[in-house]
Amino acid sequence: MFGFGAKNIGIDLGTANTLVYIEGKGIVLNEPSVVAKNVKTGEIVAVGAEARDMIGRTPANISAIRPMKDGVIADYDTTATMMKYFIKKTIGTGKPYVMVCVPSGVTEVEKRAVIDATRVAGAREAYVIEEPFAAAIGAGLPIMEPTGSMVVDIGGGTTDVATISLGGIVSSRSIRMAGDKIDEAVAAYIRQHFNLLIGERTAEEVKIQIGSASVTDAAELDNMTVRGRDLISGLPKTIEVSATDIAKAIQEIVDAIIGAITETLEETPPEISADVIDHGIVLTGGGALLKHLAEVVSEATKVPVFVAQDPLDCVAIGTGESLKNIEVMKQKH
Ligand code: ADP
Ligand code: MG
Repeated sequence: MFGFGAKNIGIDLGTANTLVYIEGKGIVLNEPSVVAKNVKTGEIVAVGAEARDMIGRTPANISAIRPMKDGVIADYDTTATMMKYFIKKTIGTGKPYVMVCVPSGVTEVEKRAVIDATRVAGAREAYVIEEPFAAAIGAGLPIMEPTGSMVVDIGGGTTDVATISLGGIVSSRSIRMAGDKIDEAVAAYIRQHFNLLIGERTAEEVKIQIGSASVTDAAELDNMTVRGRDLISGLPKTIEVSATDIAKAIQEIVDAIIGAITETLEETPPEISADVIDHGIVLTGGGALLKHLAEVVSEATKVPVFVAQDPLDCVAIGTGESLKNIEVMKQKH
């Protein structure tokens, strides 16, 4: 039946990862948002996981590009090419109706770029859903009800904080401080303290293995062996870092995330605040998996904090579930 009738699909076009959801099936693709290109010919060498494995390891003529930056399209053509590849990989031929998420607070121009890129990628029509809604739906929050919910989505490029009630965003904030900035802080710390240059993949591995939002709780975590290039000798070198030092190095970003949450709470009407105290704050996105993050956010806000089940999948699930409304959206066009 490929190419027959149109399938409805949802795409979580993230700075770090792109997920595709097919109506009736669920998530069918989950790959890094990376494209490897031959810089001389412009030819695409690899897309997704295969391209991600090339980051920092490409010869001079190949470049591994992350076309999304800070939640928005940084490289239009490459984003469209990447989406085209993912759509083809998941549904074969045929032009689907596509629901794509965009961060809250993007400009009309940025939103337009996502819609246009999705059309160029092969969509019959593209619709957008704001990411906090998608994250909240995916996390199972009762967003259509007259009760306040707070969701904090921590991705690669942005942390998006929103309180939602009756299907609308009540207060929100988006800051360009999330997973990538934590990786950068890890790499900067290792460069400064060990004269060791490490790649972005290695920095991310350090964060995932021993990164902790709490400096005190980091003491329980093991040290980690890290390899890179010595800045002075230029030779390969191995060092050992402690989780406590890494926790200190990333503290500034963790504090910025907490700041965005407390500021959003300060702008939240009292009834909704009361609901948030009752139900707690839900963390989604890959950054929600940072060790001890839920505890430090809870300490700072005095509100219970939960990590959603499968936090990396919430936005894709919510985008997919919102496909139910696509018939309504089609009529608006
Ligand atoms: P985006 O929506 O921007 O594509 P994701 O929600 O997919 O982002 O999350 C990706 C981010 O989550 C990356 O910065 C990644 O390093 C981070 N991440 C993934 N797993 C973990 C983990 N276990 N601990 C800390 N950070 C993690
Ligand atoms: Mg995301």
